[in-house]
Amino acid sequence: MPTFNFALRDLPPEAEALRTEVRAFLDEQFGGANPVKRARSWGGFDREFSKRVGARGWIGMTWPKKYGGHERTFLERYVVMEEMLAAGAPVSVHWVADRQSGPLLLRFGTEEQRQRILPGIVRGELAFAIGMSEPDSGSDLASIRTRATKVDGGYLVNGTKVWTSNAHLSDYLIALFRTQVVPDKKHEGLTQFLVDLRTTKGITIRPIIDLAGHHHFNEVNFTDAFVPDDARVGNEGDGWKQVTAELGFERSGPERYLSSIALIKELVREVSARPDDRGAEAVGRVVASMATLRTMSLSVAGMLEAGQNPYIEAAAVKDVGTTFEQSIPELVHALLDVEPTLDTGSDLEQVLGYITQVAPSFSLRGGTREVLRGILARGLGLR
Ligand SMILES: Cc1cc2nc3c(=O)[nH]c(=O)nc-3n(C[C@H](O)[C@H](O)[C@H](O)COP(=O)(O)OP(=O)(O)OC[C@H]3O[C@@H](n4cnc5c(N)ncnc54)[C@H](O)[C@@H]3O)c2cc1C
Repeated sequence: MPTFNFALRDLPPEAEALRTEVRAFLDEQFGGANPVKRARSWGGFDREFSKRVGARGWIGMTWPKKYGGHERTFLERYVVMEEMLAAGAPVSVHWVADRQSGPLLLRFGTEEQRQRILPGIVRGELAFAIGMSEPDSGSDLASIRTRATKVDGGYLVNGTKVWTSNAHLSDYLIALFRTQVVPDKKHEGLTQFLVDLRTTKGITIRPIIDLAGHHHFNEVNFTDAFVPDDARVGNEGDGWKQVTAELGFERSGPERYLSSIALIKELVREVSARPDDRGAEAVGRVVASMATLRTMSLSVAGMLEAGQNPYIEAAAVKDVGTTFEQSIPELVHALLDVEPTLDTGSDLEQVLGYITQVAPSFSLRGGTREVLRGILARGLGLR
């Protein structure tokens, strides 16, 4: 029967030297930023910051030099990612492209697409959005209906994507469309496209305001939007295989257990000011859980480095990681007897307010808890 394989990985010495460099850079950039701002880490969309990160060589770190990459290891990249998240750096411009769109093009894109797109990502100049979900297709992604119909020189696209993070700010959308309807075989006939959001006519992007009152999500509507042949990524009909490979990259990184890190730091600060046994026990448990998750996540990074496809382990990291990060607001609330607030109050109250509002999304984005557990059960031969 298949089992988990979480081989232990030690970070190589060059990764630790890099950590010092990244910390010094982040300190110089955000030394004075307050915890409330840092809590919003992923939401921060700052083109100038991403260009500075690119100039340091910290985007596309593992990619071939001929596309502007730096041919460093996945474990070095891991150190950069965890330091960025721990500092609450505004990483949104380059995060998606660095994590999954670039690797997707490296694996399935044409040589022309790689040369045209990858160097701009590496420089921190190109922001990508993900166009998978549709109004009636989230977990059941293979049921998407947005059609790309073949015409002379390209495809005409009609349909709607939803929950598209940062589409209104991004340069490109990697979108999954249906190029063929195959009766009773919904996983077939799907194809991925590299859609230029800046120049493609027939695309309307409308905001969806989230629970916290912010505009981050969008609805993206396509009405006879023409997408040229050279925007197709991979072969027609290979979309499902490609998209599942892409989700492997999306599910196992430190962003799957560090979403509440700003609140954990406030917890430690508060408990340190008035130490007692209950506080020490709570912090001890949180740190032990985080250390275990980090070991599991690093192990997945090591497997990706070795060219393996650790999709079961990646699903486990995301499921256990999001359960952990979602537990932090309630723990802080109960232990410190503090109420969440928005926009007023102490740093602790505001960080608690923000994380409490966004925490439900942790186990939805990138695949819901129930769906991941289905993957785990199937992968382990339990169903
Ligand atoms: C913060 C955030 C950012 C996002 N960004 C993007 C983005 O940029 N691009 C994009 O394409 N999408 C994005 N999404 C969408 C996200 O991937 C979907 O919300 C997710 O896949 C769930 O789909 P759904 O919302 O349609 O829920 P549904 O699929 O309708 O599910 C509803 C509930 O039913 C459960 N369920 C569904 N099927 C099963 C089953 N077979 N067995 C057991 N339970 C099941 C689910 O677990 C869930 O609890 C984002 C979501 C969030 C929260």
